[in-house]
Amino acid sequence: MDIGVLALQGDFSEHFQVLQTLSVSARLVRLPGDLSGLDGLIIPGGESTTIGKLAAAYDLIEPLRQFGREHAIWGTCAGAIFLSKDARRDQPLLELMDIRVERNAFGRQVDSFEINLDVPFFKDGIEHPYHAIFIRAPIISAVDRDARTLLTLPDGRIVAAQQGKLLATSFHPELTPDTRFHAYFLDLARS
Ligand code: GLN
Repeated sequence: MDIGVLALQGDFSEHFQVLQTLSVSARLVRLPGDLSGLDGLIIPGGESTTIGKLAAAYDLIEPLRQFGREHAIWGTCAGAIFLSKDARRDQPLLELMDIRVERNAFGRQVDSFEINLDVPFFKDGIEHPYHAIFIRAPIISAVDRDARTLLTLPDGRIVAAQQGKLLATSFHPELTPDTRFHAYFLDLARS
């Protein structure tokens, strides 16, 4: 299996390293041709406006949309925003997932925080909660049509959603040693 990591801006090297830890063949993606032969793609956290503008400048928007209609894509944080159909601002989006996001939803004072979340769809996700890191994170404020909610904070706000092979998480699994979310995505890419 070959997994790409979109390497325009943000923490792509952390995702790349996790894939290497898991012995997955990984490739950095910067040009449309880099997508060929991949089974899945990770879009990292960073700054979603910058990622979108660079993707437009490198003629990647349409190739990424085409790729996402057939293959698995996982967006973390800024990557989740880029996957959405609506970020309530004027910025380039892939519009692949039927989700709406609120950028920087946690405000200045608590714009970064960490929390343990129960993840019922992990085999041991209740006994061993998932330690999630949020950095100037978005909230998924609406999940429509074919998308579904995967995970919420204790107060009910949505922080992960899935639509077929497309996955969006508000938090940063690449910044923890826990590889369960990467394993979950690899299963999607394999399916
Ligand atoms: N605040 C960033 C944005 O709106 C996302 C932050 C992140 O990816 N950690 O694009």
